[in-house]
Amino acid sequence: MPTFIVFLGPPGVGKGTQARILAERTGLPHISSGDLFREHLKNQTELGQIAQGYVNRGELVPDEVTIAMIRERLRQPDCQAGAILDGFPRTISQAQALDAMLTEFNAQVNLVPYLSAPESVLLERLSGRWTCRAQGHIYHEKNNPPKRPGICDFDGSELYQREDDKSETVLRRIRVYLEQTAPLIEHYRQRSLLVEIDGAQDIEQVTQTFLLALSHLS
Ligand code: AMP
Repeated sequence: MPTFIVFLGPPGVGKGTQARILAERTGLPHISSGDLFREHLKNQTELGQIAQGYVNRGELVPDEVTIAMIRERLRQPDCQAGAILDGFPRTISQAQALDAMLTEFNAQVNLVPYLSAPESVLLERLSGRWTCRAQGHIYHEKNNPPKRPGICDFDGSELYQREDDKSETVLRRIRVYLEQTAPLIEHYRQRSLLVEIDGAQDIEQVTQTFLLALSHLS
């Protein structure tokens, strides 16, 4: 049976960092909807042009566009054993579409690590976040600095601060999360898939908590 893991939580809580660590340890692909959109924006594809305004304003890209992009990604051969989803689903209708897609692949969502942290922690993390230009590796200037300032440890590419990590847009992203994405917590809790993790802990502690949850899965 394939394994599909969905990381849930507000912007800045560490979903991307943890999803990458888990992907490395399990060999499953890490699928970040935000990274996919940023790639489309960079390449100025048709989808990128549709998404651009929404991403820059910190609003959600319309469901049908997002769902089609993820469907395309999940159909790739590297997802046959499963995947680690980060940033998708973000609305109830995206979650329903995901269920339908996975049913087609004879699969289902197996585990939903839900990371939470106080808003002050999220703001501090987002304002100090640096992202790698080539592959989206994530750093924090204090909590998780690169070995050489401004340069990604993994691929040597330039680190930059995301436009939507700036203060006004960050507040909008948190509000959008509370209004549109937080209802998914209950959606997955009711299905007994939710594992609640204190995202304010340091990176290694969070990793240990969800690895333990994962070991109970099989
Ligand atoms: P992220 O990197 O996850 O913070 O996503 C960056 C931006 O991409 C978001 O603020 C949205 O504009 C867009 N985005 C990412 N994932 C989704 C999604 N599942 N649904 C709609 N928009 C999304």
